[in-house]
Amino acid sequence: MKDARKDVIIVGGGLLGMLTTRFLHDAGLNVMLIDKGELGSESTWAGGGIVSPLYPWRYPASVSRLARYSQQRYPQLCQQLLEETGIDPQWIRSGLLFAEDDERAAAQTWAQEWGYDLQHLSSVQAMHDCEPQLAEGFGNGLFLPELGQVRNPRIAHSLRTSLRLRPVTLAEHFPISGLETDNGHIIGVRMGDQVFCADKVVISTGAWTGLFPEMQAMNVDVRPVLGQMILFRGPRGLLKHIVLANGRYLIPRQDGRILCGSTLEMRGFDKHTTDEALEDLREAAYGIMPALRDLPITNHWCGLRPGSPDGVPYIDEHPEIAGLYVNAGHYRNGVVLGLASVQLLVDRILGNEPCVDPTPYRLDALRTPTAEFR
Ligand SMILES: Cc1cc2nc3c(=O)[nH]c(=O)nc-3n(C[C@H](O)[C@H](O)[C@H](O)COP(=O)(O)OP(=O)(O)OC[C@H]3O[C@@H](n4cnc5c(N)ncnc54)[C@H](O)[C@@H]3O)c2cc1C
Repeated sequence: MKDARKDVIIVGGGLLGMLTTRFLHDAGLNVMLIDKGELGSESTWAGGGIVSPLYPWRYPASVSRLARYSQQRYPQLCQQLLEETGIDPQWIRSGLLFAEDDERAAAQTWAQEWGYDLQHLSSVQAMHDCEPQLAEGFGNGLFLPELGQVRNPRIAHSLRTSLRLRPVTLAEHFPISGLETDNGHIIGVRMGDQVFCADKVVISTGAWTGLFPEMQAMNVDVRPVLGQMILFRGPRGLLKHIVLANGRYLIPRQDGRILCGSTLEMRGFDKHTTDEALEDLREAAYGIMPALRDLPITNHWCGLRPGSPDGVPYIDEHPEIAGLYVNAGHYRNGVVLGLASVQLLVDRILGNEPCVDPTPYRLDALRTPTAEFR
């Protein structure tokens, strides 16, 4: 491991950290990415990869703005990654079907404001025509045909491979234990008594971000929120769209696998799957699509989302430590918000015109906590 001073050290190699490394290197900077484990093996690996918030109209404009920006750019990023590495992140325009329409008015207002095609399905027949395997009894729905997904383990693998093809320094299994500062400036990061020096440091440590005292001092409230998922092995094409009903969703992968997610559990950094969640997710899946009863469940896993009070990420420079940046707290939406939030942070670091207004993501922005964060 070379100890030469870097322009930027990025701590945390999930989707956020890997994209930051990619963008900064491509802008000509000398960068190093450090992770306590393997790159892309935490929430980024575990997630569903829906490139949309689940009920997008329930979020503030600051979330919709990042989502829209990312959605317009994921197809191109995935194509570039495929060409560079031969690993396909499987961006698919699978559409998102809400098997309920209680929030139709709010959804329509949101869709109009942000320019989405939102279709109202108002009969059992229309629902069945849209998704033939849907359980009987869903008589109304909302459909967003242009929304899509990426396949988490694949985008992580593809990004990791693309970074290995670049002359960037990658340090895996290096748990950073602290930050080094001098007179109000960041000068590096520490692992035990080993120090890595840099002019700037980005903290993109997902659910672990709140553990840094410098983040606590700025009231960066990022907490781990566990999510469990199960996987069915199905034939290709059985389920056509991402389907959401009663807070549970099914995601059809290109090869026929179908994911069902996900639980929301606040139990610290404990990362264990439970039989109760398996049962709960399985019943929810059968309730949406009865044909799943005939398919084997081949996997059950969990990940720690970087929860934040209202789901609006922290994307900012530390006001008291020059050169220290944070990009964390994307909660349930780190994939769909991630591309835009990395671009915003990179714009800040490079002194470019920001791709979106940075104000709502500042460390001192007012955040109204949702029930589970109070
Ligand atoms: C079950 C589930 C379903 C989800 N579904 C979706 C979805 O459909 N759509 C969507 O947009 N989002 C979804 N998400 C959320 C999304 O996956 C996350 O918001 C996103 O992956 C966060 O990325 P990240 O890079 O911030 O964090 P992570 O991927 O967790 O990466 C953080 C990295 O920091 C490293 N790290 C931490 N501390 C240190 C340290 N001290 N030193 C060095 N390294 C450190 C960790 O090892 C880790 O690799 C889901 C999440 C889960 C769990």
